[in-house]
Amino acid sequence: MKQVAVQVIQLGDPDAARLLDVIKVRIEQRCEAVVVAAQGAPDVMLSIDANLPSEGFRIDQIDATIRIAGGSSLALLYGIGKFLRTSRYEEGFTPSVWRGTSSPHGSLRGMYFASHFHNWYHVAGDDEIKRYVEDIALWGVNAIMAIYPFINLSGWDDPEALPALNQLRRMFGAAKSAGLATMTGLNNVLFNNAPAELRATPLPDLLGRHGNSGTMICPSTPAGRELILKTTSELLMLLKDTGVDYLCLWPYDEGGCGCERCRPWGARGFIRMSHDIADMARSILPDVKIVLSTWTYDTPPDGEWQGLSDELKRGNGWVDYILADAHEDFPRYPLDVGVPGNLPLINFPEISMWGNWPWGGVGAHPMPHRQQRLWNQARQVLRGGFPYSEGIYEDMGKAIVSQFYWDPARTAHETVREYAAYEYAPTVVDEVVAMIDILESTASLHYMKQAVDVTAVRRAAELAEAIHARLPASSQRNWRWEILYLRALLDRERFVGGGLRTPVADAALLRLCDIYHCQLETDDPYHHRVRPPWQGAVSRHGEC
Ligand SMILES: [Zn+2]
Repeated sequence: MKQVAVQVIQLGDPDAARLLDVIKVRIEQRCEAVVVAAQGAPDVMLSIDANLPSEGFRIDQIDATIRIAGGSSLALLYGIGKFLRTSRYEEGFTPSVWRGTSSPHGSLRGMYFASHFHNWYHVAGDDEIKRYVEDIALWGVNAIMAIYPFINLSGWDDPEALPALNQLRRMFGAAKSAGLATMTGLNNVLFNNAPAELRATPLPDLLGRHGNSGTMICPSTPAGRELILKTTSELLMLLKDTGVDYLCLWPYDEGGCGCERCRPWGARGFIRMSHDIADMARSILPDVKIVLSTWTYDTPPDGEWQGLSDELKRGNGWVDYILADAHEDFPRYPLDVGVPGNLPLINFPEISMWGNWPWGGVGAHPMPHRQQRLWNQARQVLRGGFPYSEGIYEDMGKAIVSQFYWDPARTAHETVREYAAYEYAPTVVDEVVAMIDILESTASLHYMKQAVDVTAVRRAAELAEAIHARLPASSQRNWRWEILYLRALLDRERFVGGGLRTPVADAALLRLCDIYHCQLETDDPYHHRVRPPWQGAVSRHGEC
């Protein structure tokens, strides 16, 4: 097919124009076919079907027309995603033969964009952010989380305060324009000029898992409580017109207070403060839903889960979701004892930082086996979550988790295959899977300070070169392939070659810097955390 005629019915602009654009851009990126608005009989029809679940879609066929129907315009986006991923793009466009109905299991299928350190989310242009939000929505995501960086700012008059606010508003604007919900986070970390006498007592962080970063305020003094509510309400007022749908209250790193009246934080001070913030938030945003995070509860001090459970037995109406997760395995309490308040449970999987440093510094970071193992620990009770993301280099990981949330039984392996067929080519899927297996095991062995398998490392680079030679030009240019290809080359250079200063490594690292929009010379003391270790890179103010 050289021309694809698309008709959108039952939807007015701007939704109709936006969805047509979503299809057009992605098909025309992948093949020579041209997508046009249908004049006569369409090849593809997009429509709303009120009988479908609000987030469900159906793909069927009426004569020669493929009909994608959704229970809402957002659901239609999910249907378009399935259609695009299962179509083929060799020698023109061959429409998907996938037929069926699908709707999500999880209700809150989010993604957390950590927008800081001049990482990609921080510096990408508006159009790139908008496109990227659409891309992940096509995989089934329905909410974006981003936070305001009180931790780095001295007050609303800090020169960076307004740019940071605009950054957050920009992210939420992109989410809203794609039809997604938004979530921000609050806790007791405030501006770093907060009065010394209001500050929290450092946490007794025995295992070093909670962190004591940021300017934390004790909520158990009247003045501290007042400052927390004043500052957080000011932020919500500044965001009110963007439409904040969810508010996540967060206990640790950043956050916490170890004083006599607050501890154990997760069972006492944090709950009281969260209840106060929730009440305040609902006075500003009447429809806002509250997600109460229990991240790293009981690691230690013990008794936090039980304390929360006891508290929510006395009334759970102020909380809508419980979020649970940890640095490694999923916490046992909600699995063994039950979710406090009998509320829906979501997770916060770390898909960005485990097993690579700098984050994304040597390219793509696929971890399908690790993601599957952690998912299996809790998939029977989860209703979604917010994977933590530092950049676009774990794009494949985002697809995997989004599909877990959509269908808990769908394996990471299946999603990797669908991803590879769509983003690279259907003919290279087996080789891509083999290559990714090696990249993951290499990263894991290296992280655990064990010897990597040098034969496998060479094999992954050979696979990368062989796949690259077979890909269509559009896939060779696709950054999602480039970051995977460069990762295999860089693994070879650093583990079996001359290291990361060879001409091949030098060019690969510089290209990654370009893809991530890194600053080759930076004043940001944290930028090296997200910048590939290219030898010419400069951190003028050092590295923290
Ligand atoms: Zn305190």
